[in-house]
Amino acid sequence: MAEPYRVIVVEDDPDVAFYIKTVLQKNGCIVQTFVDPSFAQSAMRLYEPDVVITDIEMPGISGLDLIAMVRAVRPGTPVVVMTAHVSVDYALVALRNGADEFLTKPIASADLISVVARLAEEFRAAKETMPTPETVLAIGAHPSDVEFGVGGILAAHEAAGDNIHVMTLSRGARSGHVGDRQNEAFAAAEYLGARLHLEDLADTEISGGDPTVGLIEKVVREVTPTIVYVHSDHDLHRDHRAVYKAAMLATSNIRSVSCYQSTSSTVDFRPNRFVTIDAYFEAKLELIRLHKSQLTANKYFTTDYLASTVRYWSRFGEGSACEPLEIIRDSTELTPGVPDTAQALKKHRLTQGRARQLPQ
Ligand SMILES: [Zn+2]
Repeated sequence: MAEPYRVIVVEDDPDVAFYIKTVLQKNGCIVQTFVDPSFAQSAMRLYEPDVVITDIEMPGISGLDLIAMVRAVRPGTPVVVMTAHVSVDYALVALRNGADEFLTKPIASADLISVVARLAEEFRAAKETMPTPETVLAIGAHPSDVEFGVGGILAAHEAAGDNIHVMTLSRGARSGHVGDRQNEAFAAAEYLGARLHLEDLADTEISGGDPTVGLIEKVVREVTPTIVYVHSDHDLHRDHRAVYKAAMLATSNIRSVSCYQSTSSTVDFRPNRFVTIDAYFEAKLELIRLHKSQLTANKYFTTDYLASTVRYWSRFGEGSACEPLEIIRDSTELTPGVPDTAQALKKHRLTQGRARQLPQ
């Protein structure tokens, strides 16, 4: 038999939740029920469901908001919306908001089983046609450099199912307590579902040669990235320029390498790709906020500064928020990574919801 379908049920009525769980479990599904919808986001990451079933009206969050949240975490995940109200309006609103199916309570067990089986099979088939995930390596001199430069892009990679590695070469002792900054770096990596490679070079004394080159080479050998993001050479901070130089040597055989903006970029920073992050700007803000010790120390970490920066760059791209990149090398015909997935997704009806706005 095929792998059992994994189903998440979000329903504030425990009796209904129990009924659905019982019916589906009898039919071989693995079911997790949540009475409190606020657990749904972490549940999405933890259980990677084939189908999500949600009530339309719950305290705190509506089933319709939940659809957007589900798709932001895992694009394409089928969502079934349930309601007790026999109303065509409800059904239309749910479907317009991207629900895949609509069930009216009381739900017949046969309907439930057939809907779940059909959506789960479609989703699994669609996933098989998707390209293999990219492996992304984002390199920064100090904690929070990467989040400031490509926080939104990394959140989009995460949503697309790519593997993310963050490499930070120093612990930022010059602008904060090392222990705090280290903890913040790990918290941000965890939020991204990324693995953090935290080195301990002396802040403000990072070399553009060894040992920096060797450290980056070691991580490149270990994780074999397909996409690299790193500091630009057009930067006032010597650590940033040093990391740029070292990374150019250490990543010469990587297919896609590009440079991000930092808080100390100069006017010579000349991006030529503008990645739309409309759906991921909130995630970027959250990533920056996790660097608590820097929020007062760094005037560029305010919400209005971050918002106006991504807004400004959008004049060269699409949407209303963009992160800029200087492309060093990009040897793929298609834009690598997330957009491949976006194109695969477009072939299916899986582009619904906020996650549609992947980088161009
Ligand atoms: Zn820095």
